[in-house]
Amino acid sequence: MHDDRTLVESRLKRVLDERIRPAVYPESVPLEVGIWTAPGEPVPVAEGLAAPRTPIAVGDAWGAPWGTSWITVTGTVPKAWAGRTVEALIDLGFDANMPGFQCEGLVYRPDGTPVKGLNPQNQWVRIAAPAAGGEQVLLHVEAASNPVILDYHPFLPTELGDKDTAGDQPQYKLTRMDLAVFDETVWQLVIDLEVLGELMAELPVDGARRWDVLRAVERALDAIDLQDVNGTAAAARSELTDVLAAPAVPSAHRISAIGHAHIDSAWLWPLRETVRKVARTTANMTALLEDEPDFLYTMSQAQQFAWIKEHRPEVYARVQKAVAEGRFVPAGGMWVESDTNMPSSEAMARQFVHGKRFFLDEFGVENHEAWLPDTFGFTGGLPQIIRNAGSKWLLTQKISWSQINKFPHHTFLWEGIDGTRIFTHFPPVDTYNCSMKGSEIAHAARNFKDKGVARHSLAPTGWGDGGGGTTREMVAKAGRMKDLEGSATVRWEKPAEFFAKAEAEYPNPPVWVGELYLELHRATLTSQAKTKQGNRRSENLLREAELWCATASLRTGAAYPYEQLDRIWKTVLLHQFHDILPGSSIAWVHREAEATYAALAAELDSLIDGAQQALAGDSAGGRELVFNSAPHPRSVVPAGGAAPAALGSGACEVIERPEGGFLLRNGLLDVVVDADGLVASVVEVASGRETVAPGTRANLLQLHPDFPNMWDAWDVDQFYRNTVTDLTAVDALTALSAPDQAAVRVARSFGSSTVVQTLTLRAGEQRLDIDTEVDWHETEKFLKAAFPLDVHTERYAAETQFGHLYRPTHTNTSWDAAKFEACNHRFVHLDEPGWGVALVTASTYGHDVTRAVRDTDGGTTTTVRFSLLRAPRFPDPKTDQGLHRFRHALVPGAAIGDAVREGYRIGLPERRVTGSAEQVAPLVQLDNDALVVSAVKLADDRSGDLIVRVYEAGGGRARGLLTTSYPLAGAVPCDLLERPWDGTRGEVAVEDGAVRLALRPFELVTLRLSAAG
Ligand SMILES: [Zn+2]
Repeated sequence: MHDDRTLVESRLKRVLDERIRPAVYPESVPLEVGIWTAPGEPVPVAEGLAAPRTPIAVGDAWGAPWGTSWITVTGTVPKAWAGRTVEALIDLGFDANMPGFQCEGLVYRPDGTPVKGLNPQNQWVRIAAPAAGGEQVLLHVEAASNPVILDYHPFLPTELGDKDTAGDQPQYKLTRMDLAVFDETVWQLVIDLEVLGELMAELPVDGARRWDVLRAVERALDAIDLQDVNGTAAAARSELTDVLAAPAVPSAHRISAIGHAHIDSAWLWPLRETVRKVARTTANMTALLEDEPDFLYTMSQAQQFAWIKEHRPEVYARVQKAVAEGRFVPAGGMWVESDTNMPSSEAMARQFVHGKRFFLDEFGVENHEAWLPDTFGFTGGLPQIIRNAGSKWLLTQKISWSQINKFPHHTFLWEGIDGTRIFTHFPPVDTYNCSMKGSEIAHAARNFKDKGVARHSLAPTGWGDGGGGTTREMVAKAGRMKDLEGSATVRWEKPAEFFAKAEAEYPNPPVWVGELYLELHRATLTSQAKTKQGNRRSENLLREAELWCATASLRTGAAYPYEQLDRIWKTVLLHQFHDILPGSSIAWVHREAEATYAALAAELDSLIDGAQQALAGDSAGGRELVFNSAPHPRSVVPAGGAAPAALGSGACEVIERPEGGFLLRNGLLDVVVDADGLVASVVEVASGRETVAPGTRANLLQLHPDFPNMWDAWDVDQFYRNTVTDLTAVDALTALSAPDQAAVRVARSFGSSTVVQTLTLRAGEQRLDIDTEVDWHETEKFLKAAFPLDVHTERYAAETQFGHLYRPTHTNTSWDAAKFEACNHRFVHLDEPGWGVALVTASTYGHDVTRAVRDTDGGTTTTVRFSLLRAPRFPDPKTDQGLHRFRHALVPGAAIGDAVREGYRIGLPERRVTGSAEQVAPLVQLDNDALVVSAVKLADDRSGDLIVRVYEAGGGRARGLLTTSYPLAGAVPCDLLERPWDGTRGEVAVEDGAVRLALRPFELVTLRLSAAG
């Protein structure tokens, strides 16, 4: 037979595009349209509904950037349409692509009840089915003229990303405002032909099924009268019945589809707009659930539920009803889909505490899957946190974005640093915005790495990022692929149903040990430094506030600020969202974040001050007490307690060198700062060991050009290293003298920027403190601080949640080479047997470590570089411009325990309070430094019990005794939600009023301590 395949395929495309799709709405009449534009920020619904309208016509421009317009459409259903299905078609000026990245609307009835959201893929509002004819139509649309930030030529700098700079040019033109007849038969024919056409394109050309489908499509096209599509659509459909009824083969891949809209809690829009995005999407999804009995929808991020509850109660009522029916499924159990690289141990834990508790309190639902489809990499500390939250599964697809290495599994056990294993699934569809295209379904089946031993995968289905959700077209396509020859099978299933099936069919999945590193978006560890500092500062202040408020409550009966701490935590957790903390949002988001963090800091400082003053007693007492929030003693001040200040021991001196520069000494370290202001030598006095590699100088600031190929705020591409400028020119070098410290100040200028660094040795401290102040005015540059160390090692440690993980210093494999920029929390540590060195940081997360062998002596130089600042221009054209302060320290002779201790200290400075008390005894004390307290707080259930979270921080086994300074009645191991939990495998035993602990490497345990009496 002659091969006419491409002829039929081309015919299908043209007839669908030009004749069949337009026939879905065969008749229409225009609606009358009126508009009112809110003068500033969005207004309450009642105000928008009541505001006076002025007429506007199709073709007219509307909508300044970030504006809100209330649009009213009115009309009458023609009598002649009696018996037909009638819909309103409202096109606000949509571009067919990228729903959620442009204008959007939410439709209301005159009484203020929401109907559904409007977006490019969802422009219809059902009026009547069937119509009686003569119905009056009156609908209101709250229309948001959000500007397009990510355009067809992506990543171009734009001022549209902040209301303050976006201007007032109208962004859109009303395109279609009609009442129309909806011909469902034609619409069904469109779906039939799309499903078969897309299936056909994926089938092998030499297989019979492809030709069966092709001939059926040809017969259907023959059956259509192109001048009467509506009259012949049914006949065309009947030609397709047989090929649509042919069942899937027994070995077909099985896809659990779940309706979804991955809504970024802020990104190319501000937080306040996400509140409305969520309302639009959930209004759409609750409406779709009512129309489609098989459909199921899942939404993550408790914060987004809380937003609708607070701001759109009428939408929330529909969500509550659908959740109760089991069809709207809360997923993930986290407050937001956070970044996981940078949040502290406690913050990562609280993401789950607040997320799961919200779902339990609101819906009585506890879900068991962590749901992080879009987060930029996953730390080795996360599995234990997921398990301690009472969850057991993880879903993400983001690792499929890795640039270099293809991950070997789609379903596997992920093992964290402590040995906890979490059953993990990466949807092989490689998107969290599946739209039920044949190409996506076929890709999932082909791409699935675990074929032969497993058969199930999950497909989150619906428009995401900017919202929108699943469409009726996607549901209709999924229905046809339920059991279709040549296709994977598609069923709507809840995430838990999927995981249960996937786990049951795959009893021995492969294991991946350690972090799930995303080989992309590495610069998110550095971009928007002030957002990152605000996060770290808030985490530290929350630790202090909980510790001292709990201490004051138990000691003095002071009220514990439950509500205030709950609200502050939720604000901090929100800002850990995976486009805020990573620095990849528009300027507006980061401007607001900075102000929010400042307000939180003031509030937390006030809580801390109040609690410490209550503990210190009357300030007229005149005694100065030093409060120590860190988990280790500080000179004579116990961890978690307060004591009178003691002077640092040992003399400090600054000696001017004849060849220029200074020698700083404190009896523990001799530090040479040379004439260029660079650290030429750091000798540990006790061992005589030099820290800085011969022929190199430390604390060398280095400037690289930094213009990635895509994703400016997100990415740094490996070629940035090809060009580097060492900033060695010094403007001024000044010795600073103080009785208990030796310090030098170095001032430099480069490009349009200046930097002043202060290098300080303090009495009694084996640590060189480096404070850096940069007035940064560069464009597309990367600033690093380099520490070339005389250490020979194949690996180094970087702190993560509840421990540390190791990464290679070499690039043996493509997996090692891809980690050219990585995350640390408060320290990076490297050692040779018997001697090590730590670099600690107050708020710098990005770093790189490289190795070189010296010609002079054959020794190895291992260079650690902290990533201080970048200057990308998208999406915030002025990213990081202005004044920044950073604090780092070099700790020679440090074992891993020293790195842990100094890491805590740099973020938790002493606080001095004048009062009448002689001291404040800590509520709890531990007798082993490897056992670190990560939180002391009162129980959230307001029982007055004390919650203490402890982890083993050294990576070894640790035994210890936890004692309390008050009579202890009992200690119960708990999960993160403070519920009794037998999940811990370490030993927790109460003996003689104390708690004996024996923990595995990196094991964490949460204890609920009840007081006697
Ligand atoms: Zn996202």
